Amino acid sequence: MPEMSFDFEGLIKMIANNLYSEKKVFVRELIQNAHDATRRRIALDGVAGRIDVETRPQDLEITVRDAGIGMNREDLVDYLANIGKSLTLEEREHDSTLIGQFGIGFLAAFVVASKVRVTTRKVGEETGWLWENEGSKEYRLTECEVASPGTTVTVSLAGAEDRGMIQEAEVRTLIRRYADMLTIPIHLNGSRE
Ligand code: ADP
Ligand code: MG
Repeated sequence: MPEMSFDFEGLIKMIANNLYSEKKVFVRELIQNAHDATRRRIALDGVAGRIDVETRPQDLEITVRDAGIGMNREDLVDYLANIGKSLTLEEREHDSTLIGQFGIGFLAAFVVASKVRVTTRKVGEETGWLWENEGSKEYRLTECEVASPGTTVTVSLAGAEDRGMIQEAEVRTLIRRYADMLTIPIHLNGSRE
């Protein structure tokens, strides 16, 4: 059967112009994913990790790290890199604490990113993975050492004009506005929010 094709950049522009009025909401989407992954881990083995957000505006980088369930190769290919597909949505009917649902939140990072790097290891598995995307349909997937289960997402901003949105104070405001609905502790540059 023929497959549909789509234009990655066109889709990202559509997301930027129609779904996310503020570019900085990608940080919220990454925290939401970290939260859902942590809830899934708690359900699995009871480990309640924290979410760590690190800002490095001088390097145009922001990192969101969780000690959640993590992803294996199949999860990366089938869910992270699959637009509109969401494991969270599939599991939602069993666990009402999960937030994700549309399977597009992660894409919000590409509105501002020149590069997104994900390192991850799934609970119960030995192999870790590095997933890298420089803003197109293509991504690189390679095995890598990951010390403990969970996921780290690093977004490199494309333009210095967006540096303001990853300043610590800006990210703190966003976290505080949003964290009320979250049940997992969030640390920003090492201190609890
Ligand atoms: P949604 O959150 O609505 O499901 P996203 O595009 O934000 O959609 O994420 C797609 C899928 O990628 C998630 O459903 C989940 O399976 C996987 N994923 C994304 N971030 C993480 C993470 N930090 N840890 C584990 N899985 C993740
Ligand atoms: Mg999400």
